Amino acid sequence: MSRGVYNFSSGPAMLPEPVLERVRSELTDLDGSGMSIVEISHRSSAFEEIAHRTESTLRRVLSIPEDYRVLFMQGGASLQFSAVPLNLAPPGSTVDYLVTGHWSSRAAREAARYCSVNVAADGGPLKYRAIPDPADWSPTSDAAYLAYAANETIDGVEFPFVPPTDAALVADMSSTILSRPIDVSRFGLIFFGAQKNLGPAGLTIVVVRDDLVGGARPETPTLLDYAEVARSGSMLNTPPTFSWYVAGLVLEWIEAQGGLTAIGTRNRRKGELLYGAIDGSRLYRNDIDSRHRSWTNVTFRLTDPALEERFLVEAAQAGLVNLKGHRSIGGLRASIYNAMPAEGVETLVEFMTDFERRVLHDADAEATS
Ligand code: PMP
Repeated sequence: MSRGVYNFSSGPAMLPEPVLERVRSELTDLDGSGMSIVEISHRSSAFEEIAHRTESTLRRVLSIPEDYRVLFMQGGASLQFSAVPLNLAPPGSTVDYLVTGHWSSRAAREAARYCSVNVAADGGPLKYRAIPDPADWSPTSDAAYLAYAANETIDGVEFPFVPPTDAALVADMSSTILSRPIDVSRFGLIFFGAQKNLGPAGLTIVVVRDDLVGGARPETPTLLDYAEVARSGSMLNTPPTFSWYVAGLVLEWIEAQGGLTAIGTRNRRKGELLYGAIDGSRLYRNDIDSRHRSWTNVTFRLTDPALEERFLVEAAQAGLVNLKGHRSIGGLRASIYNAMPAEGVETLVEFMTDFERRVLHDADAEATS
């Protein structure tokens, strides 16, 4: 715990320390230029080199096929909730959404401003604690696309499979991207904000198959038109240069860790350790269907909710910070993205075990007094 805390924030989230150290060392003088990354033009050859290198590293790490464009955009994943229908849904078309939690629900609501939305699966009746069974979905036969959120960051529920569909598949991977290998060729479009597994906020990446580029509605803002963004090399206007640069360093760090296969193995172990501790306890519980639990956002509650505040205070005293659940659902949440080392999760589990022992000891003492 070299910085004094383990930070379980859901995003912006902790970044690998070697990356932060490198940023610090280069911050006042990039490559002997006497200028900082935040002081140079996005049109300079130095930045062009960084931009190009970041894209090639991303392509290598994710094994992105040749016929996909990689777009570096702004506005967060939330702006893609509008950009996707504007680019992919012709006027009068129907689009399918799988609503499995907070973010896919927001995405479906935004798309309804532009086209007819069919909620092909609704996890609401399951309280967003499980992914509805594909056998019960009701997709449209000619949907322009089927959209879903691979992982619901707030609810802590995740698809353990790629949704079966004949339509172009659109995935919001904001909180799972780069957490393990994926087969990009199964998707029409993948988008994600950078601020969880890739770098600072401000950068949103869209990976889109060529045949889905070029059909934007005429009223689409130029900055959201995938064809225009692609044509300009993602430089229609000033891009978030600093976030783009840090993303490149994080990708190089991922490669140095052994790539996504090694990272995925580590992430799976971290999740198993934490869920194992929750399941084996009398004080903590996780209500998500065990087949659909998020690898990256572990939500949990205390069987006595009145103890949650004390848990948070004592955890923070022990250097375990940002464990409060999202304000919309409460409870607790540990986000364990790539940069969270196994020791961070082990330390959290030790704290949880000790907290439980003390709380149950107090309760037993009270019962017998
Ligand atoms: N989708 C998912 C799955 C998310 O986790 C988030 C952010 N937490 C968003 C969308 C919204 O992202 P942004 O704040 O970048 O717009």
